[in-house]
Amino acid sequence: MKLAIVGGGINGLSSAWQLALAGHQVSLFERDKLMAATSSASSKLLHGGLRYLEQGEFRLVREALQERRWWLKKAPQLTRRLPILYPIYADSHRARWQLKVGLWLYDAFAGRRGIGRHRWLTPQQTLRCSPQLKADGLTGAYLFFDGQMDDQKLGLWMAAQCTKAGVQLYENQPVLQLTADGWVLLASGWQQFDRVINVAGPWSQQLLQQSGLPEQPLDLVRGSHLLLPPISRYGHMLEVPGEARIVFVLPYQGNTLLGTTEVRQQLAEPIQCSAAERDYLLTVYNHYFRPAVDSSKVLADFAGVRPLLGGTANASQASREYQLNWQGQLLTVSGGKWTTARALAKQVSRSVAASQ
Ligand SMILES: Cc1cc2nc3c(=O)[nH]c(=O)nc-3n(C[C@H](O)[C@H](O)[C@H](O)COP(=O)(O)OP(=O)(O)OC[C@H]3O[C@@H](n4cnc5c(N)ncnc54)[C@H](O)[C@@H]3O)c2cc1C
Repeated sequence: MKLAIVGGGINGLSSAWQLALAGHQVSLFERDKLMAATSSASSKLLHGGLRYLEQGEFRLVREALQERRWWLKKAPQLTRRLPILYPIYADSHRARWQLKVGLWLYDAFAGRRGIGRHRWLTPQQTLRCSPQLKADGLTGAYLFFDGQMDDQKLGLWMAAQCTKAGVQLYENQPVLQLTADGWVLLASGWQQFDRVINVAGPWSQQLLQQSGLPEQPLDLVRGSHLLLPPISRYGHMLEVPGEARIVFVLPYQGNTLLGTTEVRQQLAEPIQCSAAERDYLLTVYNHYFRPAVDSSKVLADFAGVRPLLGGTANASQASREYQLNWQGQLLTVSGGKWTTARALAKQVSRSVAASQ
């Protein structure tokens, strides 16, 4: 079939690749540069998402852990195994036994070919791994493993797989409108396809709206990160004091990546880290590390918008699952995580095959 994909983020590229491997003739239209939006503003983790276990998202976590292994194996030059500490203090929100259960499940879901099992570290061992962590009240830490990537380069690697598989990739080609019977409006005029796949991430519903098609609810939630000077070669998963949320402090390309936040976003607003988010992140950082840092130490910041399946009041509890929705010959893909892009793409490919 002749297929059009709208959106050159990781989900659009992975879908284009899977569909080309299935023998379709695929054109992908990206309005900007490939991998320039949400997919290059992530926390750079290839992970199952330990915290999603608390929300009972077992299917998603298991799938993401399998996908984590796939990315680490297929692109070792752009990915690595990252040791992460979850320190526990006398006043931590989660008890040690809760973490133990979660990490046991995490390892079990990763399977026998996982990337390393968790273990408990004493306070002394913890501080040897991360000397700037606050020692007061520290009862120890769990050490576990996840994957880390250069999200933009890994996405461009996927673009190269697309090209090899015969996908036509078009940058700076915004899709202005769609129809449910396979028409796509580009600056050069209308083109017809057998199926159109709308994978425009946070903009997928806006595109439906400007095409006069019914929309599905999508919660748009900005997440910001700060880049700070290096502190440790271990990552940290840290509870935000007084909240159920967690924040990551990760070694990244010689510096420290601190994130993220959850702030409702309108598409008309600029996607950038606000002063309030910067303060929030630095406050969490200074709760855990010595010496304290202030804004003058921030080397850079960036922000992206999560396109989450709609309907939850609390963004941190919103599902990271994905959904496919057909309207005639038009398939809209919503939600998802970076790590599960290939699994999402396989489902897109199966759904397109079933629509014939
Ligand atoms: C702060 C933050 C941290 C995250 N951290 C992680 C993490 O560590 N690990 C993880 O697994 N996941 C993470 N995620 C989730 C992950 O980044 C996203 O789920 C994923 O990148 C979404 O990819 P996408 O391709 O759907 O969207 P996008 O990357 O946004 O791609 C959509 C593309 O569509 C294009 N587009 C829009 N409208 C049009 C149009 N009309 N015509 C043509 N093109 C159009 C856009 O320009 C864009 O390039 C994070 C998300 C955020 C926001």
